[in-house]
Amino acid sequence: MPDTTTFLIVGGGLEGLSIAYSLADHGETDVVVLERDTLCSGMTAKSSGVVRCHYGTPSLAAMSWYGIDVFTHATEIFGDDMSFRQCGYLVGVGDDNVKPLEATVAMMQGLGITTDFVDHDTVAELWPGLHLDDFARFAYEPLGGRGEAYMTGMAFAATARKMGVTIRQGTTVTELLTDSGGSVYGVQVADGSQIHAEHVILANGPWAPTLAAGAGVELDVKAQRAQLVLVDQGVPTPEVPVLSDLAALQYICREPNGELLMGNSDHQTPEFVDPDRYVNRADDDAIEKNVVKLAHRLPDMPDPRITGSYVGAYDVTPDYNPIIGPSPVDGLFLATGFSGHGFKISPAVGKLVADLLVDGTTTLPNVDADDFRYSRFAEGDLLFSLHPYEGAGEMR
Ligand SMILES: Cc1cc2nc3c(=O)[nH]c(=O)nc-3n(C[C@H](O)[C@H](O)[C@H](O)COP(=O)(O)OP(=O)(O)OC[C@H]3O[C@@H](n4cnc5c(N)ncnc54)[C@H](O)[C@@H]3O)c2cc1C
Repeated sequence: MPDTTTFLIVGGGLEGLSIAYSLADHGETDVVVLERDTLCSGMTAKSSGVVRCHYGTPSLAAMSWYGIDVFTHATEIFGDDMSFRQCGYLVGVGDDNVKPLEATVAMMQGLGITTDFVDHDTVAELWPGLHLDDFARFAYEPLGGRGEAYMTGMAFAATARKMGVTIRQGTTVTELLTDSGGSVYGVQVADGSQIHAEHVILANGPWAPTLAAGAGVELDVKAQRAQLVLVDQGVPTPEVPVLSDLAALQYICREPNGELLMGNSDHQTPEFVDPDRYVNRADDDAIEKNVVKLAHRLPDMPDPRITGSYVGAYDVTPDYNPIIGPSPVDGLFLATGFSGHGFKISPAVGKLVADLLVDGTTTLPNVDADDFRYSRFAEGDLLFSLHPYEGAGEMR
């Protein structure tokens, strides 16, 4: 392993690997990625992989749109299809949320994103058997769908390696090295070695605050518990769109084996955990809530049974938007706090970070890099959705 490098990335999850690939794509191959465990074993391993542009924050919507373009051209770019399935993305709301839905769709269309309203009959064709009476309005993104975070991260990694990036697994960064002026100049590794770097990029998800604190940077990133439940309907579910059910505040997507994966879309009362110590099984009451909502939405499941559950943790910031940009300390760049958006925007995150580090500005269309600046919290200028949904919290 080199003992000096230009770019050192802490964390071999989706974001760190996307950044590594994008730096190489910018011609910067003096890049080292350090992962304490195995690649994509952190929260990337827990991702539901939902791909939608339906966001009330224009920069996020635009980053997702860029992501869709990369996912759909993955074979050409990476020689690997990343397992993206363009099954479509459907969002349905009750009477209370028609206005935010309409305003969000208008905003997205203004950005050139392919989305439109669909009526109940169209939804009944897209997903036969769904109970639709309590929905007032739907929007549909035919180009959205479902990806596989592990496969995506590994495609970034394989391509970055081919381009000359060094990736080390089983390599824990224990400390950021700072000089007498407080600038970060490298990292201390658990085996006693040090690597000096011009730029250290912190992309280690909910574990970022501890390392940042050692360099005097306070990061308000918490690990918010997310409980997921899997159900087999009794027959494999055919290919259907991902459904954001904002009437029942649940999302449902079809697993590659035809089971259904359900997650919670009500983030009004978040529960925070230690990302290294939590029970990897949903609570009984969360399982019951999910199953009751599913039975309401799919009343004719032939022979349903719960096949599993697991728990992950979103790395959330106070406004549920990521922190991407330079830290207040020289030499340290931040890419954390992805707040449940990190899969779909991962291609754009890599490009944004590489653009900012190499060129000082981004060419990502309709993305204002300033939106994600670290200082917005101290300034009290938080990045909230322009059209928040009643009951859903800030994650949309
Ligand atoms: C349950 C769940 C569902 C989600 N669903 C979706 C979705 O449907 N759509 C979507 O767009 N996004 C979704 N997300 C968000 C998305 O998956 C994440 O934002 C993304 O995977 C985060 O990637 P990351 O690289 O920032 O973090 P991680 O994947 O957590 O990677 C960080 C890495 O850093 C390593 N690390 C930590 N500390 C150190 C250290 N000291 N030294 C070296 N390495 C270290 C860890 O081992 C880890 O591998 C979901 C997230 C969760 C938790």
